[in-house]
Amino acid sequence: MPIRLHDSLTRQTLELKPAQKDGVYRFYNCGPTVYAPAHIGNFRTFVINDVIRRLLELEFPGKVKHVRNLTDVDDKTIRRAQDEQRPLAEVTRQWTDKFHADCAALNCLPPHVEPTATGHIHEQVDMIDVLMKKGNAYRAADGSVYFKVSSFDGYGALSRVKERELQAGSAMKATAADADEKEDVSDFALWKAHKPDDGANAWDSPWGRGRPGWHIECSAMSKKHLGDTIDLHTGGVDLLFPHHENEIAQSQCCNGTLFSHHWYHSEHLLVDGKKMSKSLGNLYTLDELVAKGFSPMALRYALLMGHPRKQLSFSLDSMHAAESALTTLKNFRATLLPGAGLGHDAFGPVLQALHDDLNTPAALGALFTIVNRYAGEVDAASFDRAIFALGLDLNAAAAPQATAPAAVTALAEKRWAAKQAKDFAAADALRKELTGAGWSMLDRKDGYSLEPVKK
Ligand code: AMP
Ligand code: ZN
Repeated sequence: MPIRLHDSLTRQTLELKPAQKDGVYRFYNCGPTVYAPAHIGNFRTFVINDVIRRLLELEFPGKVKHVRNLTDVDDKTIRRAQDEQRPLAEVTRQWTDKFHADCAALNCLPPHVEPTATGHIHEQVDMIDVLMKKGNAYRAADGSVYFKVSSFDGYGALSRVKERELQAGSAMKATAADADEKEDVSDFALWKAHKPDDGANAWDSPWGRGRPGWHIECSAMSKKHLGDTIDLHTGGVDLLFPHHENEIAQSQCCNGTLFSHHWYHSEHLLVDGKKMSKSLGNLYTLDELVAKGFSPMALRYALLMGHPRKQLSFSLDSMHAAESALTTLKNFRATLLPGAGLGHDAFGPVLQALHDDLNTPAALGALFTIVNRYAGEVDAASFDRAIFALGLDLNAAAAPQATAPAAVTALAEKRWAAKQAKDFAAADALRKELTGAGWSMLDRKDGYSLEPVKK
């Protein structure tokens, strides 16, 4: 079943398939800027990208290469390090670790490669050098290097920026501090000459000391780890312009070939219908939701409740609904018997909805329709495949669950068999043994679960 996904460049829904002969699917996802905890809006984007990754893994097993960068040098990271009077690398390490912990709690698969901007200065300098030699870039008097937008005919194809410019005046206003240095207001920085504010955060280059502009890092890291042409490039909708437009310009002018076959942008998360912002006090982090008693998995579920290409309004009510949905799914999983419904892909409609332009609300709807229709009669593998694609870790869903040791599970299996054979005396004796070992066995119609005895 092909995966079909909206392409922001052609505005069509296109099939995801590897373009190169080796069959490897090359997927680049713009990562976080590591200077503070990522908020739940950021995580909407990363969770959606994780579902894409999971669908790719199911479709092209062992043939997916997922790269997601870390922006560890820019104005925000440098300012944070200076405010705290700490080295930049220490601050970005702290927030990278936090980002990894949050991603793990949200059950996001780690990318195969997670390159950093500061770890790829050479690659960025090399690319800028080629752009200079090809006449797509120029050095300003202060030592900064700019990309000459007028040198690339294809500029604006992704964001239709030229159309927007005509409609709404200049979309690229000359508000930037570097406006004086540029030949044209729409040109953007590839290399920023060192300024006293940057402190020790500068590197040598053929144009003098400085640091890379933000956009070039993704072009350089994508080229290094995935090659000149990739299959899919993604990010939140705010990255479409100028970030991705600029990436296309840099990469295509440098490499002389198509940059990405497919572009996908997911929409933003709002809170109670408003943009998340610090001043409105409606900007949540994962930790804040956990402190309110919610599980990270409930956040993942809530983030999937809206269509990824539509804005989603987050509310605490949706978190309550998500917790209760996860409990239902967990209980349903416990009723599935080995061997039941084997080979019948009852949960196929969940995958179908995801393959149809990542329709996560339709997938969750299909999941519950099937859960409500069957009890214990479906193939566990079919259910598990659907749950894997959505990335729901049902064991991590509610409050932390204890796992029964093997000896306890063996006793429980024996008791279940005795009960099925209607040997109730043996079943009662085994229940006592289980209680003595500190475990209670909860019987359901088609199975059982084990819980530590409540003290
Ligand atoms: P940043 O760390 O700011 O570079 O952002 C990381 C990712 O989060 C990018 O793909 C952004 O497009 C995305 N993002 C930022 N704000 C939101 C939001 N409110 N909802 C969804 N995604 C967002
Ligand atoms: Zn990027």
